Amino acid sequence: MKKVYLDYAATTPTDPEVIAAMEPYFFEKFGNASSLHAYGQEAKKALEDSRQTLADFIGVKPEEIVFTSGGTESDNSALLGVVYDLEKKGNHIITSAIEHHAISEPANFLEKKGFKVTYLGVDKDGLVSVEDLKKAITDKTILISVMHANNEIGTLEPIAQLGKLARNKGIYFHTDAVQTVGHIPVNVDELNVDLLSLSAHKFYGPKGVGALYIRKGTRLETFLRGGDQERGRRASTHNITGIVGLACAIELCKNKMEDEIKFQSALRDKLIKEIPARIPEVRLNGHPTQRLPNSVNFSIKYIEGESMLLSLDMLGIACSTGSACTSSSLEPSHVLLAIGLDHETAHGSLRITLGRWTRQSDIDYLLEKLPLVVQKLRAMSPLYPVKENHQ
Ligand code: PLP
Repeated sequence: MKKVYLDYAATTPTDPEVIAAMEPYFFEKFGNASSLHAYGQEAKKALEDSRQTLADFIGVKPEEIVFTSGGTESDNSALLGVVYDLEKKGNHIITSAIEHHAISEPANFLEKKGFKVTYLGVDKDGLVSVEDLKKAITDKTILISVMHANNEIGTLEPIAQLGKLARNKGIYFHTDAVQTVGHIPVNVDELNVDLLSLSAHKFYGPKGVGALYIRKGTRLETFLRGGDQERGRRASTHNITGIVGLACAIELCKNKMEDEIKFQSALRDKLIKEIPARIPEVRLNGHPTQRLPNSVNFSIKYIEGESMLLSLDMLGIACSTGSACTSSSLEPSHVLLAIGLDHETAHGSLRITLGRWTRQSDIDYLLEKLPLVVQKLRAMSPLYPVKENHQ
């Protein structure tokens, strides 16, 4: 059976070149980067070279990078770290209604602890408005966190404008760039952000490693207490293999990005054109143009996303109904509800995300099979208005 992976926003395969770069650090070069002997110094060099590679890629200084265990840790640390440090200054944070759970859950936690949290709504395309942010800021606001691109619908948020507003008001701004780093150019200065999260497994690096950019001078409570790794910001022996893999993955993305954007956005646009042409009553979710080059999300009326997913899986096609982290829940996606879909429509959503190994033939296979799957499921659906039912 043909196998087609179209769930790159959930995770990406580790590029074989990344695996080759990591390999020596498991055995030959296994040292602890905090050790003073030659083994340690070899690991330390790999650590600092990797930090430089990442720093150059996002346009920052190496000392502004803290390596973490991934996007969730970076997001939690940014939110909780700033809030714990600045709680005497204010008790209000602002975020959006469509953040990943790695932001919305710590925000909910802070709310339970007595902080005030404003969740900015979005328009029908998933965009946060600068005007809404302006209105939400108070003299107690200490942090604003809005994601760079949404993981479910692919909309790119106007971070540069939102960040500029925050900077003019003297408020820290964090962005979750887990879905953008490695896929589109990300330059911290152009985005006007003070904190930025990223995760290697979303750009062909290994799982369990990521980073948080922290602009020099930003006040932030220590994430993990223990040793003095990462300038005392985050204790624990460095995951050198993972960090070397992250840096190698970044290098590959730098070299391939322009071609990948061109190729993937052409396939994405083919899906945007062909799916509604082949299947009636389909809605594209997310902004029509201001979106990630590798991501589409459709609501397909009268069927359940899960049934569609399983039927496609039986044909060898892997897609998603939304975020992988919530796909086991039967609640409709908070993102789709936030853009104004009703529960029923939100339940019938399909996210298709492309990547380095997606080929034209994979898209053609999906375009051939999806209408058949939808037709079959609609025929079984009590919700589908079959003509005879109305006679
Ligand atoms: N933020 C976004 C937007 C994501 O898509 C994800 C993963 O799906 C995360 C954060 C969490 O990242 P990680 O899996 O590296 O913890």
